Parts: sequence; structure tokens; C-alpha cells
Amino acid sequence: MSKIKFQTLTGMHDVLPEDQIYFKRIQKSIEGIANYYTFQKIETPIVEMADVFTKSIGEETDIVGKEMYVFKTKGGDNACLRPEGTAPVMRSYLEHGMHNLPQPVKLWYEGPFFRYERPQAGRYRQFHQFGFEAIGEKNPSIDGQIIQMSYDVLKELGFKNIKIQVNSIGDSECRPYFRKILTSYLRSRKSSLCADCQKRLKDNPLRILDCKEEKCQQVKAGAPQTIDHLCESCHSHFKQVLEFLDELELPYELNPYLVRGLDYYTKTVFEIVDMSDFGQSQGTLIGGGRYDGLARMLGGRDTPACGAAGGIERIMGLMKEREMKVGSKQEEPQIFLAQLGQLAKRKSLKLFEEFRSAKIPVAESFTKDSLKSQMRSADKMGAKWVLIFGQKEALEEFITLRDMESGEQKEIKLDKVVEEMKEKLKQLKDGKKDKKLSKS
Ligand SMILES: [Zn+2]
Ligand SMILES: [Zn+2]
Repeated sequence: MSKIKFQTLTGMHDVLPEDQIYFKRIQKSIEGIANYYTFQKIETPIVEMADVFTKSIGEETDIVGKEMYVFKTKGGDNACLRPEGTAPVMRSYLEHGMHNLPQPVKLWYEGPFFRYERPQAGRYRQFHQFGFEAIGEKNPSIDGQIIQMSYDVLKELGFKNIKIQVNSIGDSECRPYFRKILTSYLRSRKSSLCADCQKRLKDNPLRILDCKEEKCQQVKAGAPQTIDHLCESCHSHFKQVLEFLDELELPYELNPYLVRGLDYYTKTVFEIVDMSDFGQSQGTLIGGGRYDGLARMLGGRDTPACGAAGGIERIMGLMKEREMKVGSKQEEPQIFLAQLGQLAKRKSLKLFEEFRSAKIPVAESFTKDSLKSQMRSADKMGAKWVLIFGQKEALEEFITLRDMESGEQKEIKLDKVVEEMKEKLKQLKDGKKDKKLSKS
């Protein structure tokens, strides 16, 4: 075979049909939880003014400094592909005067984001993220709710060994002083830091606490901690957040060196990490925190806010690796439609439409032609009934119903099929309920 001419760019990937089931499952869980807590969906454009991010995330961060896809539009605007979701949501909040609405304004989003990162396993340059943002509320109960929702998403997807790490990084009141004492501590150990961190020392010393290099980890272990240097208001806010987490009975632990790398964070920061069977962290699945200063960075007035974001590919990767279940059996179609011959295929389109408007899920396989291979698909899917629609059936306007368990077959008139199957599904459901009742 000749060499394939075109392939995806480095770091880009197709979300193939076999992965859609995971995407759907994750999206469903996010949307369900968002709806439950009355968060409304928002969609911001993929392309934004680059300044939305440079002014908020910080020019010294990797995201803005190295990883942003920046370009000039034909009109001369300095634009970029969005690298994250919080700044655009805040941009939208300010642009549409959402401070006039009842506060907090609770929003959620989901979609593709772009970072020109070094390619490595499980990291993509176009990836999907979701996020919850509650804007216009300073009460620590909102921090608790955001953490609860993030935890719920992962719990609902079936993650068992997850841990919440929390910290407070202070605000404009107390952070400058902390930065000063941290810098002087780190400066005295400059030679023990990795090359990147030696550079960070000048512009972004807090980020050194984030560094994964072994050398820097050792320096970090003796570093001053933010929670010992919080001002009174940050201290009492954090105390209340922890009280909420206790009340919600969420499994959290304090991580005094958790900082999250972006400039806009204030006070509460958190990450939900997945733990292996040996108690080793497998990386962050969802992270977030409070960003009371972001609105002002984007030219608005002070607006307290709190949010979280999670990476869909990262979550999906672990779900696949652990062979976690993606759907319950009940949601899958119980009915499989096997079709043979052109006439049956043509007529079955209408039948499908009738099933769809009756809200009855029906599976089929368009590609496989022999009845045998279609029956095999039906069996693999765990379908309870197969409707056989062949040449003879199509001509004489009936369908053959086969019960997969008993192997019994019977003929049903075509215009009675939907009705009859509806009745059968109802009986199946009632039967399940009865079983449940008699068990308890
Ligand atoms: Zn380092
Ligand atoms: Zn403070």
C-alpha cells in the first residue's frame, strides 16, 4: 500500500465512533449535574481576542507564554484559539451585563480547547473540557457546591478512588507578603531548583510550588505555606469552605502547596485527583477554585466568582483503561430490526421513524447483509427481541417477531408492530419493578 498522504497534525486527534459512547456518557453526567444545580449552558466562540487570556491567566504562565495558538485576523485583530474556558465566560458575563441578573449567575460549558503543548501520551493540542462557573457570589457555600458538583461528576461516572485536595492561596491583601517570603526562601535555594524554576523565580515564584521536578519537590518540602499567611478575611473564608466540605462529607485533604498555575485564582483552590490501588496519584481530573480578581483583570468591576474545569480525554482515558461501564443495560435498545433485501430496507425506514416518534429505541445494522450475521449482532447487544423484515414480509406487510430467549417466533401485521412492541416493553418494565419489590 502506498504511504498515506494526509494525517492529523501533531497532537491532534479524531474522536472516533468507538469513543463517542464515552463522550456521550461523560457529557450526560455533566449536563445532568449542571441541570440539577440550575447551572445554565453557555457557548463562547473558539476564537477570542488574545488579550482575554494574556490579561487574566498571566503572560508568565506556560499557557499564555508558550502554548497559545495566536494569529492575526485579516482585519488585523490579535486573536487566539481559546486555551481554557473561565476567562471567556467572564468576558461574556461582563459584555452582556449579567451583573444585572440575580446573582450568582451559574453557567456551564463544554467544548474543544487548544494548547500547543509538548506531545505526550494522553495530552492533545485540541482537547475537550467542561466547566462550571458561579459568578457574583462571595459566600464560601458556592466553593463547597462547585467542589461537590465536580466530585459528583466523577462519582457518577464510576470513579472509586478519588480524593479532593484543597488549599487557599490568599488574595491581593495577603498574597504580596506571602510572595515576598516565599521568594526569599526560594532565592536562598536557587541552585537546587530546576532551570525552569530558576527562571520562574523572578516572575512567578508561586508556580515553583507546582513543579513536578524531583529537585524542586525537595525544596518545596521546606517552603513556607500559604495557609499560615492568610489575612483574616481569607482565613475565615477558607475555614468556612472546609466546614462545608465536612458537612457534605466529602473526602478531602489539605495540600498546603497546591497553587494552580493561573494568575486569576484567589483564595480557594482545589483539585480532584485519581488514586491508584497503591495510593499513588494518577493525576488531576478536575480542578478549579475562586477567581475574585478576574472580572477586574478583564476591565470589569470586582466580582467574586468560583469555578471548576475538567478534561474529557483524560477522564475518558482512565475509564477505558479500567474498563469502566459506560451505560446501563436498560438504556440500550431491547429491540433489533433485521432487514433483508432492498424492499424491506426501503420500507424499514418508515418503520424506524414510527418507532422513533413512539420513543422506542431500536437497533439495527445497515451494513451486514446475511440474517445470520444480523442475529449475531443482536445477540451481542443483548437484544430481547428481533424483528425480522425480509422480502416475503415486506411484500405481504407483516413482520416476524423472534423472542431471543425462548426462540419463539410469531407474525405481526406491519401496522401493529409499534403498538405491540410498546406493550411488550411495558410488560418488561413492570416485570422488573415487581421483581425489585419482591426482593425488598
Ligand atoms: Zn522546577
Ligand atoms: Zn487575604
